[in-house]
Amino acid sequence: MNPVDLIARKRDGGEIAAADLRAFVLAYARNQLPDYQMAAFLMAGYLRGFSRRETEALTEAMVASGDRLDLGRLAGPTVDKHSTGGVADGTTLVVGPLAAAIGLRMLKLSGRGLGHTGGTLDKLESIPGFRVDLAPEELLAQVERVGLAVAAQSAELVPADKAIYALRDVTATVGNVALIASSVMSKKLAGGASCILLDVKAGSGAFMHELPAAVELARLCVELGTAAGRATTALVTDMDQPLGELVGNAVEVREAVEALRGERPGRFLDLCLTLTGHLAALAGKAADPEEGRRLAEQALAGGDGLERFREFVAAQGGDPRVADDLSLLPQAPVALQVEAPGDGWLAAVDAEAVGRVAAALGAGRQRKDDVIDPAVAVELTAKLGDRVERGQPIGRVMARDHQAAGAALAGLLATLRWSDRPVQPPPLVHQVVDTEDSGPC
Ligand code: URA
Repeated sequence: MNPVDLIARKRDGGEIAAADLRAFVLAYARNQLPDYQMAAFLMAGYLRGFSRRETEALTEAMVASGDRLDLGRLAGPTVDKHSTGGVADGTTLVVGPLAAAIGLRMLKLSGRGLGHTGGTLDKLESIPGFRVDLAPEELLAQVERVGLAVAAQSAELVPADKAIYALRDVTATVGNVALIASSVMSKKLAGGASCILLDVKAGSGAFMHELPAAVELARLCVELGTAAGRATTALVTDMDQPLGELVGNAVEVREAVEALRGERPGRFLDLCLTLTGHLAALAGKAADPEEGRRLAEQALAGGDGLERFREFVAAQGGDPRVADDLSLLPQAPVALQVEAPGDGWLAAVDAEAVGRVAAALGAGRQRKDDVIDPAVAVELTAKLGDRVERGQPIGRVMARDHQAAGAALAGLLATLRWSDRPVQPPPLVHQVVDTEDSGPC
């Protein structure tokens, strides 16, 4: 089909045949189709929607645009997990070591932070010496040895998604469920793992602010994974407040290490244990997610998770002593305490705005080529539903200078809404989405 006819068909609400969609996407990935035609197609699809068949074809075409990792030589089930992006959401740093400790093999290709969301690679790079650019051979050898590797996605993997995502970013076409699902799942499918766990965030700090849209995205991702022969489950989880207490880069490594040491109970660790439990069940290491969670709890209590973290950090060139000495992580020179402005219950947090306060300090980037500051951060210890008294410490800001710290303190307080009545905290996990076909991998 000629590109203009294909765009017109989508504009008019028609369905595009899989072969035509594939040819269109592959032509774009090979620089044989101009940005303006892909942009017009994306906007037509954004407004008209995509059928399930079209979404599957889009996903397959994106996978076909580049290399795929072949994990076939790894013994045992291979697992991958993916969060759709949130604030204080560094679960990979805990789930990866725990999963490896209970005998799973995780090869995870991660991204960098953009806008208000953090990126696993930026967090890991705050560990002195840590390398994220590993060649496929190196990655596979490390997973074989340690059970875990986390690296940057190479340019050869799913190049169509890379190009299309950049175009969506500047054409106001990111927030479409089919486009997000095909983007996420094409990378997971090319990554080669036989079990895929998705953590789809819902709430003020997520792509999907509303729960129904997050559930729709979760269902679509599970359908795409299952159709491609991978055991896939999605958890729809709360992002109406930062998941953990610390938002930044080095501080999120700190929170992960403290969680692995068993020194930081709370929602962050709770979700890490739940996610690991689901991975264990998907991979057939546990009869169900509850038994999987018990395995994760044992790996935590016995110190095996922390030991795997040390091995993983050392394997990627990082200083494993950070697991025992957190002062080896970069520290910001100025810290200011944040106090509750009055008596009351914490009723709402604009989690996206919290992420933006941390990014404005230098913890995140506004543009892809911005350099981040690993040490600066925001801490919010108060959680939705907490009762506080005026002057009670509820967090901190960690900055390069007093001016930046003062602005961040005011910015953080502005993200919070208080009530003079008790407030019910949201559940951590809203919903589990899997399909009956999605048995153990
Ligand atoms: N994350 C992705 O990888 N792709 C999207 O489209 C949105 C979030």
